Amino acid sequence: MLADTYRHKGMRKKLVDEIRSKGIDDERVLEAINKVPRHFFLDKAFLEFAYEDKAFPIGSEQTISQPYTVAYMTQLLNLKKGEKVLEIGTGSGYQACILAEMGAKVFTIERQRALYDKTKALLRKISYPFIKCFYGDGYKGLEAYAPFDKIIVTAAAPEIPDALIEQLKPGGCLVIPYGRSKVQQMLRFNKIDADTIEKEVFDHFSFVPMLKGKKE
Ligand code: SAH
Repeated sequence: MLADTYRHKGMRKKLVDEIRSKGIDDERVLEAINKVPRHFFLDKAFLEFAYEDKAFPIGSEQTISQPYTVAYMTQLLNLKKGEKVLEIGTGSGYQACILAEMGAKVFTIERQRALYDKTKALLRKISYPFIKCFYGDGYKGLEAYAPFDKIIVTAAAPEIPDALIEQLKPGGCLVIPYGRSKVQQMLRFNKIDADTIEKEVFDHFSFVPMLKGKKE
């Protein structure tokens, strides 16, 4: 059984204070970080690391993003309750749970079968069964469920996938770390209407690469 004790809650509160001190000021985002037990997403042995503001390996050569980064991207999404959100790069499932805590209808895609299986099972176990998990290539988006209010890519994109811009509703936005080197630039594409896309540039981050195709 996974337990969320007072000790965990205390550690989480400190993490929230740390993220706030680094400049995140959207209280709804901070509240979501305060609610989701990040230690559920790491192996038991790494409990002490769960509430440090650091990325951490989760197997299959992937990482659970740094909480500050998760908060930063979530803040850029400007989520409203009930919005349909597509996440590319399910990984541990932590970012998906933060989006769900904020009242979004979450669809998330992972290209690695092993991670997809593991995280899908975990989300059910820790009571986030309404997050819809898909095994596939995020470069293609999720045509069958489009359009989305918001799309978030949690891997470093060497190019901006056309499908993701297409699958956005007018008025929606895509938040994506863009670049081919070790460090990427956080971008936000706002879809004003079908033909008008506005680009905004934010801080630098470091993600694992967004790769093409699925991996068995
Ligand atoms: N959002 C995750 C962070 C995961 S790291 C979390 O909260 O833990 C990035 C993830 O993106 C990895 O699991 C990687 O396998 C996945 N990924 C990379 N390229 C992808 C693609 N084209 N489609 C779907 N997932 C992809």
